[in-house]
Amino acid sequence: MNIQNYHSILSELPVQVTLIAVSKTKPVEDIQLLYQEGQRVFGENRAQELKSKYEVLPKDIEWHFIGHLQTNKIKYIAPFVSLIHSVDSFNLLQEINTSAKKVNRIIPCLLQFYIAQEETKFGFDRQECIEMLESEMFKSLRNIEIVGVMGMATFTDDQEQIRNEFKSLHDHFNFLKTNYFQDNFKFKEISMGMTDDYHIAIQEGSTMIRIGSAIFGSR
Ligand SMILES: *Cc1c(COP(=O)(O)O)cnc(C)c1O
Repeated sequence: MNIQNYHSILSELPVQVTLIAVSKTKPVEDIQLLYQEGQRVFGENRAQELKSKYEVLPKDIEWHFIGHLQTNKIKYIAPFVSLIHSVDSFNLLQEINTSAKKVNRIIPCLLQFYIAQEETKFGFDRQECIEMLESEMFKSLRNIEIVGVMGMATFTDDQEQIRNEFKSLHDHFNFLKTNYFQDNFKFKEISMGMTDDYHIAIQEGSTMIRIGSAIFGSR
């Protein structure tokens, strides 16, 4: 745990940027400590872990899901999750819609774009995304709302490459905003930036940084 780091990251954040404290694999005691410092937004990447932490922690925490989500796990988080950052297929979005409907909610989601040069990462490319947004099936979904985009840069020391990948995500955001979400004031989020690259992400227009190890220590 590094409370000092937490406050120094917070103090350098522009007003439009939200800090998501990524508490995956960390015990509830660590989350409680940060909660006492005033943090209310936490991110997790496993559905069952998220659910069990939700159950024991204060109910004014906003829980964000940030990892690859399997359709059979949506049910664990649908009743309470505040934002799903990692929608990487139309099928997943439809299943989120179905689960949200069952619990009578509208779940905010980000569309994850594939911006890295890494086989292991997930996400849409622009064409896939266009096809989804223009389909009648997409337009019929009533229990999800798309509020922006998310992406992960390549794990590399090459700062220019990272910057270019974040620029490409911002470009996808602008394209979607102009062509599909012009009149939707809720479509405004660009989730990008982690411990090693959040400075670049903020310079490139991030509105949500997802920080784990700089706050909670290495995993
Ligand atoms: C783990 C994780 C983070 C946080 O990573 P750190 O490098 O520890 O800050 C951010 N985003 C996603 C999607 C993650 O899985």
